[in-house]
Amino acid sequence: MRNKLATQLLFELSRPGNAAVHLPAPDVPQPPLECLLPDRFLADSPPPLPELTEPDLVRHYTNLSTQNMSVDTHFYPLGSCTMKYNPKRNERLAGMTGIGDLHPYQPQDTLQGLLELLHSLQQMLAEISGLDAVSLQPAAGAQGEMTALFVAAEYFRDRGQNRGIVLVPDVAHGTNPASASMAGFQTVEVKSTAEGLVDLDDLASKLDDRTAVFMITNPNTLGLFDGQIAEIAEMVHGAGGLVYLDGANMNAILGIARPGDFGADMMHFNPHKTFSGPHGGGGPGAGPIAVSHKLEPYLPVPVVVRDGDRYRLDDDRPKSIGRVRSFFGNTGVLVRTYCYLRTQGPEGLQRVSENAVLNANYLLSRVKHFLQVPHGDRCMHEFVASASPLKAARGVSAMDIGKRLLDFGFHAPTVYFPLTVREALMIEPTETESKATLDAFAEALFRVTEEPADLLHEAPHTTAVSRPDEVRAARKPILSWKMEDAG
Ligand SMILES: *Cc1c(COP(=O)(O)O)cnc(C)c1O
Repeated sequence: MRNKLATQLLFELSRPGNAAVHLPAPDVPQPPLECLLPDRFLADSPPPLPELTEPDLVRHYTNLSTQNMSVDTHFYPLGSCTMKYNPKRNERLAGMTGIGDLHPYQPQDTLQGLLELLHSLQQMLAEISGLDAVSLQPAAGAQGEMTALFVAAEYFRDRGQNRGIVLVPDVAHGTNPASASMAGFQTVEVKSTAEGLVDLDDLASKLDDRTAVFMITNPNTLGLFDGQIAEIAEMVHGAGGLVYLDGANMNAILGIARPGDFGADMMHFNPHKTFSGPHGGGGPGAGPIAVSHKLEPYLPVPVVVRDGDRYRLDDDRPKSIGRVRSFFGNTGVLVRTYCYLRTQGPEGLQRVSENAVLNANYLLSRVKHFLQVPHGDRCMHEFVASASPLKAARGVSAMDIGKRLLDFGFHAPTVYFPLTVREALMIEPTETESKATLDAFAEALFRVTEEPADLLHEAPHTTAVSRPDEVRAARKPILSWKMEDAG
């Protein structure tokens, strides 16, 4: 049975005279608007805003909020995205008056606490990355990639080298080639081996004096740690290029391995994945980058620096690529990151990664009995299963399985990514889930794979909307419709 959809718009619920607040009559003079604003700024009539009672308003938004799945309502094994549970404590701390009420235009003298916090966050991220300098500016992982590539471009320009090519493995996240192209590079794809690792022969054949950067996600998007990384870095450096580490999968190696130690020159973090920042809905996010010493002069401004016992925003960096975002980054998210790091401490962070890897391997060990897992018996923090055999035998696709899981109260895994695995189901349980939840998910997944194809093609059967045209739904959303249209 379908859920009732909260379909009516606020405008349709509006009744003249309704109001959610009743303000007392003003006890100060009320000059006519014309005296306060020039005529040309005044509308002919007030805007047609909906008029609702407080209960109408609360119910409207509360009902809307239940039409979706979230980490707070459901298990959410969306591979690559690390949908772990975010401790509410960090929300509370980031919202405290001393932080939440600050304004970026305040004199720096009155922002010393926040600047100290950000400075200390820069140091913690440098330590975790094994690199030397950090910029907190970028607003998302993808913007971190782009920023670091601008840094690389500036570094080569400064050295008088003309290097215009970025190499990207075929299993890379789509943001990697997109960022490279936005930073003005041409991308060339590097093949993976049958085992899902970088094909060293293919890499060698594509490295030359035009190579600027080799971008690698490690552990990669198949959930495998590429143990050739030191050799890869040696090859890239030998050709005069830089190694970029896409840090989206850092939750598998925190406190265990450091990108700077295995050859990366620069990387980004995704605090909304790795460090429990709020995630989804298009933001807010953050994408701090860490770079090696030689790239530090090119980092965006401002950088938070320490002079004795004072902290300040340093804009005076002649080689900097400039600004990539307003002010000093998405501070609210950075404060949550700081709180998360301080709460876990070094041992806690290592346990986070150990448990993320343990949970993924436990789930893999259950799932492999009924779904093909092309890349082996062991994984890092996620793994990629394939519905390809099911599709061949019974016409059941990865999409069918993902959609049907919604009926069982589980968010779908990532489907059809990475592109190198056909009918891919990319499953990432994260470290915050219990064995009971993993067992329940494995059982639901097994049941789904046994169900009749017809039932699966029509799934989900219990959600407000079943199978919208995804492209059209994003481009031309239908914001209001009646129950009878829902079918
Ligand atoms: C999520 C992700 C990105 C992009 O990060 P955003 O913060 O979403 O911009 C890049 N690479 C990989 C592997 C990812 O999983």
